Amino acid sequence: MGDIRGFLNHGRQLPTRRPVPVRLRDWNEVYEPFPTEVLQDQASRCMNCGIPFCNNGCPLGNIIPDWNDLVYRDRWQDAIERLHATNNFPEFTGRLCPAPCEAACVLGINQDPVTIKQVEVTIIERAWDEGWVAPQIPPARTGKRVAVVGSGPAGLAAAQQLTRAGHDVVVYERADRIGGLLRYGIPNFKMEKRVIDRRLAQMEAEGTRFRVNANVGVNVDPSELDGYDAVVLAGGATAARDLPIPGRELAGIHQAMEFLPQANRVTEGDVVADQIRADGKHVIIIGGGDTGADCLGTAHRHGAASVHSFEIMPRPP
Ligand SMILES: Cc1cc2nc3c(=O)[nH]c(=O)nc-3n(C[C@H](O)[C@H](O)[C@H](O)COP(=O)(O)OP(=O)(O)OC[C@H]3O[C@@H](n4cnc5c(N)ncnc54)[C@H](O)[C@@H]3O)c2cc1C
Ligand code: SF4
Repeated sequence: MGDIRGFLNHGRQLPTRRPVPVRLRDWNEVYEPFPTEVLQDQASRCMNCGIPFCNNGCPLGNIIPDWNDLVYRDRWQDAIERLHATNNFPEFTGRLCPAPCEAACVLGINQDPVTIKQVEVTIIERAWDEGWVAPQIPPARTGKRVAVVGSGPAGLAAAQQLTRAGHDVVVYERADRIGGLLRYGIPNFKMEKRVIDRRLAQMEAEGTRFRVNANVGVNVDPSELDGYDAVVLAGGATAARDLPIPGRELAGIHQAMEFLPQANRVTEGDVVADQIRADGKHVIIIGGGDTGADCLGTAHRHGAASVHSFEIMPRPP
């Protein structure tokens, strides 16, 4: 715990968002850069709790108090090592994770919690800038072959770990680009796709191989997987939850995952025939979670005339 008075001296601060009229004109990420000194003040708010609830709250078990302290002490390279010890892709989680660590943070009992997610993303972005995120080539090969089916975050994390353990790993992806929902679900304004491409280049340099347009069970015969010592199934969910109520059959009602992948393809430079667009339309979004929020931002960037969001849960405090 670098500064025992940190949480007394500094309130919680987050990066500013780019102004709405500006960010509606592009698909780039929403947040402005966060000054390093302010970030270190934020890290100093961590109390290095004897029982750090943040660590339990994090599904990855990130060792959060350690890297808060290392950031405060300006030991960024040690911080990224500690962060990578539990998290293959902090640049994804630091942007996208709903941060249950912050909901769990002990400081949050009677103050605003530590800005854990912001510290996380700043550590990894600094590490990329400094060239510390280099390919980790395994020192020895096992001679074992592993197929990973699906290239979402689950498949990518499994593939990276297995490659680094010395296995020969091939990732099969039915889509034309790697990344799963990171690529075709989540819009650029939450995470620009260069963030995925940068990590894929590291993985390829480590030896992971990727096969796109390879739909196992459709255009890839499952018998092809017989030649592997192990197979990881990381195919995600895909099936959308429908709303079978009167009127569902009417025109102009779309699943989010019909609308968002098309918009993401267009931002990648693809041409999508008969794209579902919201220009000039009055839009209703049913469901106010991450997916609903992504539809909201996309509809506004298309130039919707109005957008209303319906949410079953109470308005958050
Ligand atoms: C619109 C949207 C926004 C979201 N926003 C957030 C967010 O902000 N924060 C957050 O934490 N979570 C968010 N999520 C949830 C998050 O994206 C998922 O939990 C996560 O992507 C699941 O990862 P996965 O690797 O299991 O599956 P996926 O990302 O779905 O990847 C599975 C991959 O497997 C491929 N595949 C499936 N079957 C085959 C096959 N037979 N052969 C070859 N390939 C196959 C698919 O094409 C896909 O690319 C969001 C989800 C959506 C839909
Ligand atoms: S719970 Fe909060 S204050 Fe305690 S160690 Fe974790 S981040 Fe720091």
